[in-house]
Amino acid sequence: MKAFSHLSRKAFPIKLYNSLSGKKEIFEPINKDVVKMYTCGPTVYNFAHIGNLRTYIFEDVLRRNIKANGYDVFQVMNITDIDDKIIKESQSSKKEIKEITSFFEEKFFEDLKKLNIEIPEKAPRATEHISEMVALIQKLIDKGYAYKSDDGSVYFSISKFENYGKLSHPDLSGIKKFQRVSADEYEKDEVKDFVLWKAKKEDEPFWESPWGPGRPGWHIECSAMSMKYLGESFDIHTGGVDNIFPHHENEIAQSEAATEKPFAKYWLHGEHLLVNGQKMAKSAGNFYTLSDIEEKGFDPLSFRYLCLQTHYQSKMNFTWEALSAAQTALEGLRKAYMSFKKDIESGKKKKRLFSRKLSDFKKEILKALNDNLNTSQVLAMLWTLLKEKSLIPAEKASLIEFADEILGLNLKKGIVIMEIIPDELIELAKERDQLRKQGQFKEADQIRLRIEEKGYELRDNENGYKIIKK
Ligand code: AMP
Ligand code: ZN
Repeated sequence: MKAFSHLSRKAFPIKLYNSLSGKKEIFEPINKDVVKMYTCGPTVYNFAHIGNLRTYIFEDVLRRNIKANGYDVFQVMNITDIDDKIIKESQSSKKEIKEITSFFEEKFFEDLKKLNIEIPEKAPRATEHISEMVALIQKLIDKGYAYKSDDGSVYFSISKFENYGKLSHPDLSGIKKFQRVSADEYEKDEVKDFVLWKAKKEDEPFWESPWGPGRPGWHIECSAMSMKYLGESFDIHTGGVDNIFPHHENEIAQSEAATEKPFAKYWLHGEHLLVNGQKMAKSAGNFYTLSDIEEKGFDPLSFRYLCLQTHYQSKMNFTWEALSAAQTALEGLRKAYMSFKKDIESGKKKKRLFSRKLSDFKKEILKALNDNLNTSQVLAMLWTLLKEKSLIPAEKASLIEFADEILGLNLKKGIVIMEIIPDELIELAKERDQLRKQGQFKEADQIRLRIEEKGYELRDNENGYKIIKK
């Protein structure tokens, strides 16, 4: 996809907000043809929630925008398949770690597909890169940046790395001696020597290392895998804002201490998705998954539309009403595209060459997207352009296709009128499913009848069932 490459990169340079400088900067990649990008990926012990997915949508728009400017993109996204949360889940569910992580990894990629998120060129798993992590830790020990503790764990020594804090700017003034922290996540006012290698605990999986059996910490995983596939210095590193501290700060410390070279040039962070003003999080128990959205009859891409209406650096409050409005808007754009196409095919309007005006409009769209991914402006522009008198239907269709290469809303797809399924029916269907699983088929059939009386039908399929309006 090189939709915009004919338009000069100089005329509309990509501008991105770099968390490292705290400013919007003109994007100049290290290599002029291939942009190298690293994305912190999922911890696969549960379904991704739509907050996580908001971040992956923003990263996909970024990737598509860069490609549309004529660059190739090489993106790496790690799969965290070993960490404290996964071990806990394995212990409580009495399932093998691999069984849990393979299942949720597959589900994660299914979600990406449904949201039209392009799959990164590489998605390395942490457990398949332990030797790279061990080598990096060894290098840090050899250079005096890391030390072993009595229990066989290894820690990064914050005081040895002069530039610690350059991304997240924690207050280090009052700290004389840094404490140690063995958890992967901790608060900004608790800057500590963080763990690189965790000594084996009872009943935990482990790998051999020069410091004894154990497993890697979370932060070293991203440094080792990004540098393996992208080199010691690369262009863009992305994640959600919660990754800034300690995760990304620690990645910078480990990587730059080991190589003495700048790690990532641009750091981009997506703001959170909230529910009732609170961050959506698995630990807070206030999360929805993409299946919840589909279960209510929404097209997953209506969630993508909803996300594109808010700038990636702004917090976004999720409501079902807003999702419903996004779905209507998405259908509206698809309907408009279809009618322009029909108009062209039926030859109602005289054919003429595409006008200069069309190329001006395309430039305006590119300009908005290149300005730190102003997707909401592009959506608003599309709606205005549809009514533009100076453009013929073929030109309008061309504009929609042009914008959609980055928006990724599948606007060329014919419209399928989606029916929003009432909650009451979703509950009834769940109840019936439970009864069937318990072999209570008669009771299950009674519920099916109740659903049918309300004007809906239950269709069983290999993934379970689907509720459809008759
Ligand atoms: P995790 O699986 O928790 O490591 O998160 C995966 C990605 O989702 C990371 O980039 C997080 O920063 C991001 N993330 C987590 N919670 C939210 C949220 N509520 N809204 C947006 N992004 C989030
Ligand atoms: Zn990471």
